[in-house]
Order: sequence, then C-alpha cells, then structure tokens
Amino acid sequence: GGGPTDDLVDGLNEPQREAVTYRGPALLIVAGAGSGKTSVLTRRIASLLRSREAWPSQILAITFTNKAAGEMRERVRGLIGDTAQGMWISTFHSACVRILRREAEQFGFTKNFTIYDSGDSRALIKRLVKEHEADAFGLTPASVQGRISKLKNELADAESYARTANLSDPAERIFVELFADYQRALQRANAFDFDDLIGQTVYLFRAFPHVADVYRRRFRHILVDEYQDTNHAQYALIHELTRPPGAEGAEHGGGMMIFDAPTGDAASLTVVGDSDQSIYAFRGADIRNITEFERDYPGAKVVLLEQNYRSTQTILSAANAVIGNNFDRKDKKLWTDRGAGDPIIGYTGYSQHDEAQFVADEVEALRRRDIPYGEMAVFYRTNSQSRALEEILIRAAVPYKIMGGTKFYDRAEIKDALAYVIAVANPADELSVRRILNRPRRGIGDVTETSIARYAADEGISFRDALANPSALGVGPKIQQAIAQLDAVLAEASAIMLPPSGEVAPPTAVTEGLNVLLNKSGYLDALRRSKDPQDEARVENLDELVAVTREFARNNPEGTVLDFLTEVALVSDADDLDDASGVVSLMTMHTAKGLEFDAVFVTGVEEDLIPHRISAGEPGGPQEERRLFYVALTRARKKLHLSLAMTRAQFGEVTAAMPSRFLQEIPHDLIDWRQSPGDVNSRGGTQSRALNARRPGGGYGGSGGSRYGDDLVPLPRREKPAGDIAKFANRIPAKVRDNGELELAPGDRIRHDDFGEGRIDMVTGEGAKRVAHVRFDTAGPKKLLIKIAPIAKL
Ligand code: ATP
Ligand code: MG
Repeated sequence: GGGPTDDLVDGLNEPQREAVTYRGPALLIVAGAGSGKTSVLTRRIASLLRSREAWPSQILAITFTNKAAGEMRERVRGLIGDTAQGMWISTFHSACVRILRREAEQFGFTKNFTIYDSGDSRALIKRLVKEHEADAFGLTPASVQGRISKLKNELADAESYARTANLSDPAERIFVELFADYQRALQRANAFDFDDLIGQTVYLFRAFPHVADVYRRRFRHILVDEYQDTNHAQYALIHELTRPPGAEGAEHGGGMMIFDAPTGDAASLTVVGDSDQSIYAFRGADIRNITEFERDYPGAKVVLLEQNYRSTQTILSAANAVIGNNFDRKDKKLWTDRGAGDPIIGYTGYSQHDEAQFVADEVEALRRRDIPYGEMAVFYRTNSQSRALEEILIRAAVPYKIMGGTKFYDRAEIKDALAYVIAVANPADELSVRRILNRPRRGIGDVTETSIARYAADEGISFRDALANPSALGVGPKIQQAIAQLDAVLAEASAIMLPPSGEVAPPTAVTEGLNVLLNKSGYLDALRRSKDPQDEARVENLDELVAVTREFARNNPEGTVLDFLTEVALVSDADDLDDASGVVSLMTMHTAKGLEFDAVFVTGVEEDLIPHRISAGEPGGPQEERRLFYVALTRARKKLHLSLAMTRAQFGEVTAAMPSRFLQEIPHDLIDWRQSPGDVNSRGGTQSRALNARRPGGGYGGSGGSRYGDDLVPLPRREKPAGDIAKFANRIPAKVRDNGELELAPGDRIRHDDFGEGRIDMVTGEGAKRVAHVRFDTAGPKKLLIKIAPIAKL
C-alpha cells in the first residue's frame, strides 16, 4: 500500500476498487441501482487528479442533471480539495453550450446565440404551421415538434430526411418544408433549440475536424453517468470526442477511406449505467448504446457491481421482483448486507385526497421519529397528480418543494422579462423581439408588427434594427413614439449589459440591465397598476428573477449576460431555484433518477398511471414503465410506502382506479397494508394481522371484500376510526359522499357540485362501478362514477 490514492478506495468493495483504479482506453461499469456507480465515477475522477495522471482541465464528466453535476463537483472537491477547479462536470447540454459559445463563428452563428426551450420552439413551429396552413394536412405544432426532435436525436436534418421520405404524400412534403423552414428560422435568429445543442456540436466536429481535434486533445478522460439514457446524438458526440486526434478523414473522404496517421492517443472513456433504469426511450434514449459498448469500443474493460449500499433487503427484494418481470434483460444479482429492515407500507385511499392525507400523516409520524423532511420524497407518475398532494400538505403544514424548476421559467412574466434580456443580448432573435413588442401594451398591433417586418426585409436589416427607425415604418406618430421608446430602453440596457469589446462588465451588470428593462419599459408599472390580484404575484416573481441575477453574480463574479441566459435556459426538472434541503421533495418518477432518500412515497400505484395509459400501445412501453417503477422503488434507503386511490379525479371526471399490475409483482409478505391514514400503530404489526389484511373481507375494506377481483390490495376502510373524529372528517373531501344507492335512468336531471345541472344520457357498469354519462348544460358531456360523484337527482 502507501500509494497516493489509497484513501480514495478505502471502504470500497473489490469491483468498485477496480472501477476506480483501472487504467485503459475504455471502461464500462454496469450495475443495478444503488451499487455505487455514481460514487465510483466520482472517486475515479479524484483518483486521476490526485495521482497527477490528469489535469483538471483534461476531465470531462457528463451527468444527467445540473444538480447532479454540482453534487459531483462538490464530492470531488471534498475528496481532494480545491485542486479540482477547471474540470468540466456538466450535462451534455451545458457542455455543448460551452463548446458552441466558443466555436459558433465557425459555422454561421455568433457566440451570443439564444437557446430555445421547448416552449420557444413550439411558438416558432406554431407560426410556421400557420403560414403553411399545415393543419389542413393533420400536422399540429405538437406533432411537428415531436417529429423534428426525434429526427434530430437521430442526427437527421431536413435534407437527409427528405431523401428517405415518401414525398408523393403531400403531408410529408409539407413536413419536410416545415422542418427546413424551422431550421432556417433558427439560423436567422442565431438560435439553437435543445436538440441542436447536441446535434450541431456533432455536426461542428464532423465538418471541422481541426476544431474537434482541439477538444480531443484537451479532454483526455471522458466519464459519463447514466449512460443507459443517452440518445444517438449524444452517443455520436462521445464517439467524436474519443477518436484519436489528428486522425481526420476516416469517414469524411467522400466515400474513400482516408486514414491519416493519428497524432495522439484517443481519450479514455468510462461509462456507467444500468439498463434496468433506462427510462427515456420516448425521448430517443437508446439502450443499445450500453449493450453494444463492447462492440463499439473493442477491448473495453467491463466491471459489474452487485452489492447495493442504499436500500434494505426488503426494498431491494421488492424492486428485484418487479424488474424480474421484464423479459429482455440480463438477470442481475443485486444484494445488500443492510438487513431486512421495515416492511413496505401500503395504503389504499378512497380518493386521491385520502391517499394524500395518508402521505401527510405518515410524513409527520416519520418526522417525529427523527427523519428530517429533507430526507423524504413523494413521487408520482404525472405532474397533475401533485395537486391533491399539495392541497393536503399545505393544510397539514408540511413544508414541501416541487422539484421541477422549469415551472418558474415557464411563467409568462418570466418569459417576457427574459425576452427583453435576449432582445439585448442577441438582437437577431426575432422571436424575442416580437414577444416584447407590445408587452406592456403600447398600441403596437399586428399591422405595425407586419410593417416592421416588411421594412426590415426591404432594407435587409434585422427586425430589432428596424425599431431604430420608426419614422420610416409608415405608422402613426403615437406608435412611432412607442417604438422609439422601446428602442431607447433596449439601447440603454445594452450599454449596461454588453461592455465594449476588451472590457469586462461589472458583476452587477445583469441585475442593473434587467432593472432598466423592467422599469423603463413600463412593464412593472403596468403590473403594479393592474387590479388583477394575479399581477401582484407576477411582480413578486419578477422580484425573484432579479434575486436570481444577484445570486448568479455572487456565484459567477465574471459571468456575462450570456452566461446568465445559458444557466437559465438549461435549468431542468431536477434542478431547483431554491435550496430544497429541509423540506419534503415532490417530483415525478422520471425526475427521481439518481437520487436517494431515507423515506420514499410512491403514490398513484394504479393501472393507467403506472404503467401509464399512453404506454400501452407503444412497443416496449409497459417494459419501460416497469423500469420507471423500479427506479422509483430503488430511491428508498429505509422506508418505502406504496399508495393508491380507489377513485381518482382527472380532467374533471372521477373514475374508478385499479391497482397497478406492478403491485402484484411484489411478494405479498413484504407489504404491510395500513387501515387508515395515521394508523401508525400497525407498523410492524403481527404476522396474523398482516395476513388478515390481505384476505378478502378480512378486517379491511369493510364494504365487502375485494371489488378489484384480487385479494392483494385491500380496500380502504369506510368506518371512522375511533379517536379524533373531527380530524378524520377533515380528511374526506366534502364532495365525496356515498351515492351508492342513487337510482338514475336516461333522461333524469341531476345537479353536480362543480358542473351544475345536466341530463343523464346513459348508465353503464354495475354496483360500485356504475358510471353515469351526463350531458351538462354548460360543462358538456362527462362520465361520473355514481357512487362517489357529488351529484343529486333533481
Ligand atoms: P443509481 O443506480 O440509483 O444511480 P448508483 O449505482 O449510482 O445508484 P450511488 O448513488 O453511487 O449508486 O450509491 C448509492 C449509495 O451507496 C450512496 O449513498 C453511496 O454513498 C453508497 N455507497 C456506495 N458504495 C459504497 C461503499 N463501498 N460503502 C458504503 N457506501 C457506499
Ligand atoms: Mg447514480
């Protein structure tokens, strides 16, 4: 012993040690959840640096979220200290933005390009769909956007796609035109959409090998976490970076294979992943990137990690049992020495509110037993499920945070404010300039907007520059004045935010510039004058944005307005504005990837949610859903809760829910079903009690055994528990009442608490599952589960 990196492998098991210390061109670490993949990657970086095999600047590590990148950076720093500065630890997107900011001039962009998020590209595509009248051919903005994104993830452009498309189909022809127009519009706006960030970087590397060589020489060690979720474009990017520098031409010889002798070794590549956790196929992730790694990187070393350090045996057994039902996987032997731990706790609510109350009560019970809020997380399959949870958590005064940072930046007022900043930073971005033209209202309507566009086209100048010459636009004096004022505000902010070349803007520049834009444009005033109470919240949100700029300046004293816009554009679901420590985290199962918590609540474990309804018809869909459920289960260290609701209100309809098939895949004796929210005393209940719970009609589900046709998932108990009756009454939403006996026939008139009066068209189903098909006078047709619908016969 005695080597400089000994303490970096302390406490690691043998294969983990090997994964940290192996040196060679390619290393694949495949392992199940919680086996230390991310930890090993982190230690590997530390070990490369500590042993001086690599400079920090020679390291490129790719994580799935910015948050994960931040954590990895912190951990490396914790292991070896500040010498870790200068590494690139980032997401694919952030790494590509950094490369593109440096190299954009090479291919017709400038470094102040804008990043279009999916809302921005949707807006642009919407305009193009309208211009082409493409909706007549069944092309909606959403479908066009989805297809373009998919093609870009496969590195196809409009031209290459056109070569394979069936152009005798008019819809296909229009789609190809839209795709090409969209790309031209992006180029004109000096903008990249999210997919382009990766795809255009690959293009840049392929078209300009001398540029690629700069990065090939620089990054000597490339490490990728969550490799199972890379798509083809990301795969290609890694592939470009791991070619030997100076070997250009191998695939660019116009059909001829030209091999220059490489002038250096290829970078070493380490990837870690778990094919059981591949959950982004719908976004083009290709599991083959991992399964075919050994073919793509011949001689690659493969390390398997089989010991799980995260979860109890109970949790692991449940997860292993579930994932074992996927038929196309290699079996893994994941084990732990943590011991059995507590049973999984199950709960069936009558409604999603009842289910949420269980979560709230259980959170409080755990809190009393010293599990901090920050160590608890609640997962759901779809964002809309968070509403009921939030309502109850607020009522129960449980501090929580929704992970999904994009929400803040999706707000209209925040988008407006950022459009102002972009109009300054990248005046070529017409979409942003058009967005702020009449916000706040300054009397600039569609006609004026068209005049500006026409003038810009005639003069061959940008839309933004056209604003500088209002008298030439052929519009009235009032409007001319409004345009001149907008132009002046943009110019003033520009002087603050964009220093003359060679100078560095002070750290306060972004904050000051934003303040000028919001105040002098009249945007804030208009909100403050408004009587709409929502506008008050909007002002607060803008204050928050100003606070974000200050925070940015603190963290990046030399950060430019472009750096700020980059950071904001790349905030992803898993990242957050605020520090989420100390509060319960709510998030989708997708967002949960890579994270871990002492206590986890997986909610809505119902058919149609998990597996989600839309997955049913997709090839491989249900299998991907099972992997997603596996990801959710394996986030828990000690306490796992699975809950569902008997009925669920979605899209204004209350429907009967069925327990998820995945529940049946968990060995029955691992789950301890609770009787009612707050029933903490049944924890670790006697075996006979647990067995009773699963017997039809045996102690649970007072209203008569299983309506689900299985004996695994007990129905909720309908009696009030003894004790705090008032508290319990609070738990049942007032609207849920038992209408089980209500006789309804076609033609009957009814009144609904929310939808008003309506007429019964038809009644289907039997017993507790009787459904009324109602045509409401104003709310339109709805289907209601009679038993619990808040309805009365008139
Ligand atoms: P996932 O598949 O969910 O991404 P992972 O394989 O990346 O999981 P890590 O997050 O790296 O796993 O590790 C899981 C937990 O196990 C972490 O809390 C980590 O600190 C711990 N851990 C990993 N290796 C060891 C070890 N040798 N000894 C003790 N704890 C370990
Ligand atoms: Mg991990």
